[in-house]
Amino acid sequence: MKIKKIRILISLVWVMLISISFLWNYTNAKKEQERIAFQSARSFFNHIVITRLWNARHEGVYVPVTKKSLPNPYLETPMRDIKVNDKLTLTKVNPAFMTRQISEIAMEQEALTQTGVLVQFHITSLKPIRPQNKPTAIEERFLKEFEKGVKEKGIFTKKGAENSYFYMAPLLTTKSCLKCHAKQGYKEGDIRGGISVTSSFVMKIPLLSLLLGHVAIGLVGLFGIVLTVGRLSRAYETIREQAIFDALTGVPNRRSFSERLLTEYKLSRRHQQPLSIIMCDVDYFKAYNDAYGHSSGDLCLKKVAQTIKASLKRPGDSCARYGGEEFAVILPNTPLDGAMHIAEKIRSNIEELGIPHKSSLSEKVVTISLGVATSAGTALSSHEELVKHSDTALYKAKERGRNQVQSFSQA
Ligand code: GH3
Ligand code: MG
Ligand code: MG
Repeated sequence: MKIKKIRILISLVWVMLISISFLWNYTNAKKEQERIAFQSARSFFNHIVITRLWNARHEGVYVPVTKKSLPNPYLETPMRDIKVNDKLTLTKVNPAFMTRQISEIAMEQEALTQTGVLVQFHITSLKPIRPQNKPTAIEERFLKEFEKGVKEKGIFTKKGAENSYFYMAPLLTTKSCLKCHAKQGYKEGDIRGGISVTSSFVMKIPLLSLLLGHVAIGLVGLFGIVLTVGRLSRAYETIREQAIFDALTGVPNRRSFSERLLTEYKLSRRHQQPLSIIMCDVDYFKAYNDAYGHSSGDLCLKKVAQTIKASLKRPGDSCARYGGEEFAVILPNTPLDGAMHIAEKIRSNIEELGIPHKSSLSEKVVTISLGVATSAGTALSSHEELVKHSDTALYKAKERGRNQVQSFSQA
């Protein structure tokens, strides 16, 4: 249960970390997408401003009048058109007209390629000389913000199904602009309008691969967690078992016997119930080892331990390996006669195993001697005293010829 909880907790922390990583990566990708879109739109804007400066430096440039370059009706300049000869008339193209023409070429390119234009420009103003240069709603909003001091603006917009980036920056009035724009009331440095750049050049966020990558790492991690925690829990179980159980016989070891005895001793005192213990010792076991070898001795101890365990029927009763060939039995809420009865049953069960013991001085089979002690009627100072009493009783059983049960008596 505890391991299960730990596994769930670690898994939750892992899923949380993966989610944070995904969000962090996604947010960074979004920021990068915005940064690239902003920078590229701004560089397009700057490019247009440079071409306008080139034009303004020449106070406008003359181009042949064609269908696409008809004289600009909004350009009020004394020499707007120059007739060179019958075939060639030149007309002046000022920065605004030039920007509009570039923007128109960009539109034509879109129609031409059918793949969507990369960049569109729109020159606009809150007070346009040419009515077509009237700002769109968003351009108007941005132009008003520029007048309040905002230097540039950029936002993502939708252009059909495609994402595009809309960037806008103001056009500041310079000396050369005043030639045409002074009559509108502009002074040098005033914001005269702006150019908006709409770019469909938006970096795509690899959302699917980002998601799949994180899901894959997450799953591998979860698998690792389940596997590792499972292994750790098995290792923990093994260590716990080793700490409690005796490796050779499989019954609890002396340490767990002592802990259990202390608990039962306290309980018996609180509930004023008798507590009995039986100390068992294999007779002439040194001789058994000498006669049959150490591994046969080990096997014999295993059988003795299992027989003692199997002789105990009540759920509260327990046995443990106390030492080399010594076993101890705890019988909670059991008076002396009951304990004597169980001890005798254990003794006969061992004898009935019929394990040959040719070197035994008492019988020709393996036998055990047992000493019984009970807390009832005795003024015990500790649980250790009960063990001492059972040891004394065991010594008596050995002394009186082995393969028998003796109880501790005060006398
Ligand atoms: P007694 O009837 O008086 O108890 O005689 P004993 O020979 O059984 O007693 P003693 O204390 O002289 O010898 C106990 C022997 O138990 C000594 C040791 O070799 C053997 N022994 C203790 N632990 C183990 C074990 O884990 N495996 C084996 N094979 N023998 C063990
Ligand atoms: Mg012994
Ligand atoms: Mg012995």
